[in-house]
Amino acid sequence: MSNRSSKAGHIPERTCVICKEKKKQKDLIRFVISNSEVVYDLSKNIAARGYYVCDVNLCLEKIEKWFSKKKKKQVKNG
Ligand SMILES: [Zn+2]
Repeated sequence: MSNRSSKAGHIPERTCVICKEKKKQKDLIRFVISNSEVVYDLSKNIAARGYYVCDVNLCLEKIEKWFSKKKKKQVKNG
């Protein structure tokens, strides 16, 4: 019986902003809000508050709606 102790059990999980499902980070697309626009952080090196969305059309196509709602909530600041 080979019972290797694997400590590598921690997979980073993130929550999709659309369906609120927790998924592995690699199954999600990171994006940031830059100049009031959604920018997909495909190179994963944009230093800004990041959000995550599932890498499926079902969620991706709702991002614009989500973002326009989010914008409305924000206080207009010039
Ligand atoms: Zn989702």
